[in-house]
Amino acid sequence: MNRIELTRIPFIKNALKNRYPQLAVFIVMLIGYIFAILAGLIGTPVGSHNFSIVFVWIAWWAILILVAVPFFGRGWCAVCPIPLPGEWLQRGAVLSPPDKKPKWLNLRVPKMFRNIWLQNISFLLLALFSSVLLTTPNITGIVLAAMLFSAIGLSTVFERRAFCRYLCPVGGFIGLYSQTAPIELRIKDKQVCVTCEGKPCYNGSSVGYGCPWDVFPGGLTKNTYCGLCMECIRTCPHDNIAVNLRPFSADLTKPSTRMDEAFKAFIMLGSAIIYAGVLLGPWGAFKDAAYNVGSSSWFIYAIVFLAIIFVVLPGLFTLGIVDTKNALPLKQRFASLSTALIPLGLMFWVAFSLSFVLTNASYIIAALSDPLGLGWNLFGTANATWQPMLTSMLAPAQALALVGGLIWSARTAQKAAGEVKVSSIPVIVYCFFATCFMLWLLL
Ligand code: SF4
Ligand code: SF4
Ligand code: SF4
Repeated sequence: MNRIELTRIPFIKNALKNRYPQLAVFIVMLIGYIFAILAGLIGTPVGSHNFSIVFVWIAWWAILILVAVPFFGRGWCAVCPIPLPGEWLQRGAVLSPPDKKPKWLNLRVPKMFRNIWLQNISFLLLALFSSVLLTTPNITGIVLAAMLFSAIGLSTVFERRAFCRYLCPVGGFIGLYSQTAPIELRIKDKQVCVTCEGKPCYNGSSVGYGCPWDVFPGGLTKNTYCGLCMECIRTCPHDNIAVNLRPFSADLTKPSTRMDEAFKAFIMLGSAIIYAGVLLGPWGAFKDAAYNVGSSSWFIYAIVFLAIIFVVLPGLFTLGIVDTKNALPLKQRFASLSTALIPLGLMFWVAFSLSFVLTNASYIIAALSDPLGLGWNLFGTANATWQPMLTSMLAPAQALALVGGLIWSARTAQKAAGEVKVSSIPVIVYCFFATCFMLWLLL
């Protein structure tokens, strides 16, 4: 399938070029986000009856991992409210044309931090404390507020969206998996960019801001770091930016050579397996340890968690791809071949999320009517009883996701192995055993 340019459709193009539709969505999202913070801090401590837990960790997570990321890549980032207040403060405006004079420090992020290691660390921190985060409203409220204020703070010190690009724990994995999505923003004609004066898509102009994600759209080849903010569509004077529909995982034909991105794939794959083991596996002691944050057993759990992600999974993977006759450095083969883990990890998350989303989705109906757990009954659904949804479809859907993920990752492995001229078989075997283990945990 070739690419289909969606921005050829006047309605889509006008909706993306115009700032008001996006602003309207942003405002609704920001109100929802602030409400989630307040609900977490002042609402009931019972997680299953608090808006912050039910709407963030069940409703939002379901939409994000089951729909937004697989089909729209960084589509969530296009409407995410977290960077907004900081960005408005940084620009000194909400919609007005940019002022050439920076209002704050406007520093460049130091080179050593211009990678996704900080995002990897911030995700791991949330993952390690997820048992309390996902069940305790005030912790969720505090974490949501901390993300908002970190984004504001970084916007006053560094240029553009430093929080999104280098620190956000959610943005890291959305970027990784956005490479699989059938949507992309790209330039139409490279030659037009070569001769374009001033490169307003990156540097800004009187009609809009330079790329908030510090990306030069003219050089985009992957979705990973394009936040789909649509600013370049507005600033490009040559109408040279398109949003395209494309085949799934088109970006994965160009394997990454970066270790931070390779380890992101292991972090996400390992976290999905560990979460499935904690919540659905047969090890009660493992689950107790994960939930007793701060106890000695939790510290052992944390060490095991990190060892699986940083030693066991990459170690076994490396053993499979060692090839003394290959001239390409092992590090480069490791980074390139880890591309195969991207579709596998995404489908692991889809399969795992189906189980807890379908089990807990009925809480959404009750929480709509009583979001703070204070005894309200706004829509008459506050007393809706909990019941798992679509139980008969859960296991087949999970099996389909996992087997589909395995086939997808095998095809990706073949392409990546072809690029670095090695056999794809060890990577496919690795993915096969990982999938069997996940099937055993979930079904
Ligand atoms: S990177 Fe994080 S904070 Fe930034 S837009 Fe995406 S999800 Fe929101
Ligand atoms: S403004 Fe448009 S034509 Fe100029 S470099 Fe950017 S994308 Fe290319
Ligand atoms: S300005 Fe363009 S390239 Fe930069 S993040 Fe926004 S949509 Fe992506």
